[in-house]
Amino acid sequence: MNVIFLGPESHEKFVRNLLPNFNVIYATTEEQVDASIKDTDVIFDAYMKVPFNEQRINAAEKLKLFITATTGASHISTITLEQREIPLLTLKGQEHITRGLTAAAEHSWLLLMAVARQLPIALKETNEGGWDRNKFPGVMLKGKSIGIVGCGRIGEWVGKYANAFGMTVFGYDPYTTPKSEIFLNSELDEMLSKVDFVSIHVPLLDSTKLLINADRISKIKKGAIFVNTSRGEIVDEVALLKALETNHIKGAGIDVITAEPYIENDPLIIYSKAHSNLLITPHIGGFSPDALDVVLKFSCDRINTFFND
Ligand code: NAD
Repeated sequence: MNVIFLGPESHEKFVRNLLPNFNVIYATTEEQVDASIKDTDVIFDAYMKVPFNEQRINAAEKLKLFITATTGASHISTITLEQREIPLLTLKGQEHITRGLTAAAEHSWLLLMAVARQLPIALKETNEGGWDRNKFPGVMLKGKSIGIVGCGRIGEWVGKYANAFGMTVFGYDPYTTPKSEIFLNSELDEMLSKVDFVSIHVPLLDSTKLLINADRISKIKKGAIFVNTSRGEIVDEVALLKALETNHIKGAGIDVITAEPYIENDPLIIYSKAHSNLLITPHIGGFSPDALDVVLKFSCDRINTFFND
């Protein structure tokens, strides 16, 4: 049996070891996939960089299973798979696996604290030989409040961490069930106006695009700190920039921007190079080999089970 595995090079051997009864063909480019697709029995995608359109899927004449180690499958022609009655297994709905993946929530917290404690410029101070603590008054988290927008997998973990810091945790999510660590609010604007920290964790949907629009940004409590690790398109970035320039929002930590990966002329990137109240990381929140170990092991187990049953 042939399996084309698309994923990070760091995990090629890991996957080979977990699929001892398969001939694993490692691929990262369209050309490499196309060179082996005719004889493959399984496509195992943990990469999402090669589009699996109708033509490419139909070239896989012997295909019996398409499996991804991701929740999304927007790069795959699911209609073609359905027409050929080939099962597609993704991580969607596999909450016992995805709930335990905390990297993006941990990174949100890192950004929040780095902004609150002015970490980059404090490091710069010591790197340049300075030792003046008076320049870096820090915010104490205990007793402060946070408003979490989107209280699913990541939002819930962010709420748990906030509880551990002794904060009051509010959340806005009309589609979730009450959670013990988060007081759910029915009004987003009202929540934004009262919390000291705001953290965004909704998926990008038509209904969430620009959910945090200019009007809502203007309602955020003056001096609040803002974190977004979900998707750039959810926030009005022009309004966010203005709020940072005027210090209405004291600081922001973001892992996502609308323009990514074409960031060179992005106004937020340009601003962050010259100002210390905006920290931007290159969409690294969920990227962790530890998380990959978990989802790849789970997916390999599914492949083995699929062919053994
Ligand atoms: P999730 O589906 O578990 O939770 C999303 C929550 O948002 C759900 O509870 C849903 O009810 C809620 N929601 C939907 N529409 C809403 C609205 N209009 N207002 C308020 N809440 C709404 O998703 P998750 O795993 O927590 O991930 C959240 C998002 O984070 C992902 O969709 C993705 O865009 C982003 N993400 C980023 C990284 C990264 O590397 N930075 C990694 C993983 C996920």
